[in-house]
Amino acid sequence: MDCLFCKIIAGDIPCTKVYEDDKILCFKDINPQAEVHALVVPKLHIACANEITDENSAVVAYIFKKIPEIAKLLGVSDYRIINNCGEGAGQTVMHLHFHILSGANLGERLV
Ligand code: 5GP
Ligand code: ZN
Repeated sequence: MDCLFCKIIAGDIPCTKVYEDDKILCFKDINPQAEVHALVVPKLHIACANEITDENSAVVAYIFKKIPEIAKLLGVSDYRIINNCGEGAGQTVMHLHFHILSGANLGERLV
């Protein structure tokens, strides 16, 4: 499958890893929009939030369960979680991902 984040998950494209286990990967965004900007992705390919189903939603819950731990690894306690769903909303990589943004001057209209 021609999916950038699947290639990162497979290790075919390098990334700066923050956290990894058998279900999810967190890595630094290549083009940070804040002092801290990481992406959390399920290893299972889910294209976008519209593709979350009864069958795959457990990994989405798991991501949110792990976010506090990931935030600690990032060294932050206050942060914003963003998901863009669909091109019209600014999604450029069609593999479900949650942006974690933090740092000084986090504007209200970031991403
Ligand atoms: P979206 O716009 O789909 O919500 O977010 C995609 C994010 O992926 C963007 O913030 C972009 O900077 C990031 N990104 C795109 N290509 C790469 C890459 O090759 N490596 C990393 N680490 N981030 C990427
Ligand atoms: Zn993918």
